[in-house]
Amino acid sequence: MLKINNLHVSVEGTDILKGINLTVNSGEVHAIMGPNGSGKSTLSSTLAGREEYEVTAGNILFKNKDINDFESHERAGEGIFLAFQYPVEIPGVSNKFFLQTALNAVRKYCELPALDQFDFNHYVKGKIALLQMPQDLLNRSVNVGFSGGEKKRNDILQMAVLEPDLCILDETDSGLDVDALKTVTNGVNSLRDGKRAFIIVTHYQRILDYIEPDYVHVLYQGKIIKSGDHSLACEIEEKGYGWLIDAE
Ligand code: ADP
Ligand code: MG
Ligand code: MG
Repeated sequence: MLKINNLHVSVEGTDILKGINLTVNSGEVHAIMGPNGSGKSTLSSTLAGREEYEVTAGNILFKNKDINDFESHERAGEGIFLAFQYPVEIPGVSNKFFLQTALNAVRKYCELPALDQFDFNHYVKGKIALLQMPQDLLNRSVNVGFSGGEKKRNDILQMAVLEPDLCILDETDSGLDVDALKTVTNGVNSLRDGKRAFIIVTHYQRILDYIEPDYVHVLYQGKIIKSGDHSLACEIEEKGYGWLIDAE
């Protein structure tokens, strides 16, 4: 599904990613871990096509297409979803309207007819039920006055509505109490269907207690310095990152 080859990325003239290679097959869950400042968010943002991130070498193939020249809405249309580390607030726009607009943009990209109010209501209620989230989430302004946990939950709802092929979660666990973490991770697990792939970006291994990764990669100074299975995350939990960095 995703193949990243020798990816180099710079932001405002500074080289941040320095030769990333990563393959994600459909149905797989990959965790990207690493100390603060190692380039995790840069990788997520680059995959999502945010403009400030300049690919200076290498490429990203998504479903066998080189997506380097794709804008972020086109990547969303192709099936890439990024749950933001810091979700935006949009006063005056109801969450339901926002979700419907986002879904219809993706459907238009895929040359599918738009869902009208009636069909969308039905569709989104199914998603809310699947995620066991409160209905009132739909009528509030997008993220306005949401607690940290509610914002993250809303990210998961967006993900469920858009039905992406590749979900990228950047520090979705940061600042969540255990109950909110459970709601979010239950949501993610309910969206695992054997085909959809996930990249879970996290500083701590805590979220991986709830979402079992197939692979764990450690990013440091813009490179993947170690890959392994879930046991690597447990080792990091126990020993920190120092031993991996010293081995560099
Ligand atoms: P992580 O998510 O692993 O904490 P980031 O990808 O946010 O790391 O940052 C990696 C490095 O890139 C850091 O040294 C950070 O200061 C730098 N960086 C990130 N965004 C920008 C930016 N917009 N302008 C300049 N430097 C940036
Ligand atoms: Mg950071
Ligand atoms: Mg980050």
